Amino acid sequence: MAGQHILIVEFDRNPDSRFFLCRSCSTHITLSQEVVFEHKPTGAIIMKKAENVMIDHFTPWRRANRTTMAAVHCVRCFTGLGNFFVAVENPSDVFQQGFFLLSLRKLMYWNGSQVVDPMET
Ligand SMILES: [Zn+2]
Repeated sequence: MAGQHILIVEFDRNPDSRFFLCRSCSTHITLSQEVVFEHKPTGAIIMKKAENVMIDHFTPWRRANRTTMAAVHCVRCFTGLGNFFVAVENPSDVFQQGFFLLSLRKLMYWNGSQVVDPMET
């Protein structure tokens, strides 16, 4: 978004912190403590909260399994990172309105000492 000032949230990169970053531009996306579900084989990760992302209002919302989802992009590089749950008909601990379903393939991970590929750890 040229010409717009975007406030980028940054997490502390230290031995005690664990968080995910955009794989393309390293913008910080979410702390590990926000993650409620992770499935390595498919690269699916569900989190309560994500920073530095924008919900795509131009792409039509998708409906699947009684869930309505909007596409989510990194605010800095605009890479598609996954989806945002706009509405969930039968909420559970993992599926709730306002949660994010992102792809580990689009993310990197700060493990307390270095940035690693979350698909390989
Ligand atoms: Zn990015």
